Formats: sequence, C-alpha cells, structure tokens
Amino acid sequence: MSKSSADVGIPDDVYDRKTQTWYKKGRFMGKGGFARCYELIDQNTKHVYAGKIVPKTLLQKPHHKDKMTLEIQIHREVRHQHIVGFHTFFEDEQNVYVLLELCSNRSLMELQKRRKAITEPEARYFLKQIVEACVYLHGRNIIHRDLKLSNVFINDKMDVKVGDFGLATKIDHIGQKKKTLCGTPNYLAPEILLKKGHSFEVDTWSVGCIVYTLLVGHPPFETSKLTDTYAKIKANEYNIPSRISQPARDLISLMLKPNPTDRPSMSSILQHKFFRTGHFPTGLPTSCLTMAPRAV
Ligand code: ADP
Repeated sequence: MSKSSADVGIPDDVYDRKTQTWYKKGRFMGKGGFARCYELIDQNTKHVYAGKIVPKTLLQKPHHKDKMTLEIQIHREVRHQHIVGFHTFFEDEQNVYVLLELCSNRSLMELQKRRKAITEPEARYFLKQIVEACVYLHGRNIIHRDLKLSNVFINDKMDVKVGDFGLATKIDHIGQKKKTLCGTPNYLAPEILLKKGHSFEVDTWSVGCIVYTLLVGHPPFETSKLTDTYAKIKANEYNIPSRISQPARDLISLMLKPNPTDRPSMSSILQHKFFRTGHFPTGLPTSCLTMAPRAV
C-alpha cells in the first residue's frame, strides 16, 4: 500500500513511555480541525482505541495548547455510559496522542446524510441517550457547547456516545454566565449570537436542533448564506413540517425557545410526552445506519 501524505509523521508503532505500552496503528477513522484519528491497538491487551493524534507543530501557539489541555482536562474527569470514554493521553517528540473509546459506527452525521430523515422511534432512542449524557454533564457543571450530529458517536452496539469537548467549559458558581466562546459551535443559540452571556441552556438549544434535523432531514435555520441563517436564528424563524407528530413538534418548539430560561432543563426533557407516545426501541440494528427499519 502506498503511503499517503496523511500518514507522514504518524509512526506505525507508538510508544507510551509512562506506562511502557506499545500501540499499533490500525485503520484511519477520520480527521478533524487538528487531529487525525486512527485505531490504536494496545499490544499487551489487544484492546482497540480511537487515537486522536495531534502534531505538535500545530500546538506551537500557547492558545492552541491551552485549548487542548482544557479539552483533555474536562474529558478525562467525566465517565458515563453515553459519553465517549477517555482512556489516556501521552506524547512523543512529534505528536500528542489521546486515546478514546472506539466508536466504530461513526456518528449521527453520517447516519443522517445517508438516511435524511429518520423515524420518530429511532429519534426517541437516540435523543434519550444524548439527553442522559447532558444530564450527567450539567450535573457536573459542564456545558458541552458544541452538540451536533458529528459529535454524537455510535459504537458497534449502536449505543450513542457524546464526544469532542473542544468547546466545553465549566461553570464555577451558580448563575454564572459565560461571556465568550472561542470557536464556532455548529448550532448557535441566539444568546451566543447576541452576546448576552450564555449557560447550560445552549446545550438544550443544540439538542433541539439535532432532533429537528434527524426528524425533518435538514437543520431548522438552514439557508445558503450564514448571515441569513443568523438572521433566522435571531428571529426564531423555522417551520416544522405537518408530518411530524404533535408531541415531537411540541418538544422541538420548547427546546428552541428564543429565551433560554423558557427552555426545559435536560432532566425534564425525559419526562416529555414525546417519550411516552409511540414505539420506544431499547436497541437498534446496525441496518438503521443505512435503511429505515421496517417495524418502527
Ligand atoms: P478535532 O477535535 O480535531 O475536530 P474530532 O474530535 O472531530 O477532532 O475527531 C476527528 C475525527 O476522528 C472525527 O470526525 C471522527 O471521524 C474520528 N473520531 C473522533 N473520535 C472518535 C471515536 N471515539 N471513535 C471513532 N472515531 C472517532
């Protein structure tokens, strides 16, 4: 196999000096802003991790280094069934390596691209797990701030795992409002656009956008121009097609309330009628990644 330029600087065998562990580089999983992600196989246990590999050349600015340190600091202190597990991190001369729980069925982004709109029972299945992850995070004073389809990963059992803490932050006293956000979240809440100060409710907004996108097949405020999208967000201008059930439309409109204090808390979302009407699968087959299930 020819070596692509993508592989330059990432050795086939990686060594963690602290734990004296060798890892073998496996399949390429994808690339993000800074990181390339490969399977990394622990040569002692044969356990396969998702290794996010960041070249140190991209971390020369203190600001970039600080952001990565904060991402690691927040991610390593959380542990939940529906959050991508944090295994370890280390560095060598060339790169920083972050080893995470492997999610081999990619993310809701690929699923939604393939399927366009999904069924309401499937949305109930995914939403419950995303909200459970958020209840946990908010309970620990963490705001994710960039919940989007591509940050909701799917493992081989079709369990949902929220990941990418690159824009996450911690609230250090009750009622604190965050004034700044370094980076651009995908589903921007109006209070971020209007620079009013923001808090946990931005995650409710983003999850509302996720549910809308999964059920309708496109994001709620989508236009061909970013400035038009921002204008629509500020005007709270979106439509829910009539084929969407009443409980689903009611939940979406609560989560997309323009005033953050009017949005439901993460724990109260699970009490909504949407979760008490219609079929609620306890698991989904992997065929759902590409085709609508027959029964649901
Ligand atoms: P960045 O923080 O640089 O944007 P991402 O977190 O987006 O990096 O990761 C880059 C890519 O790596 C993702 O798009 C995805 O394809 C893959 N990836 C990230 N985490 C995992 C994981 N836990 N399991 C499988 N693939 C992953």
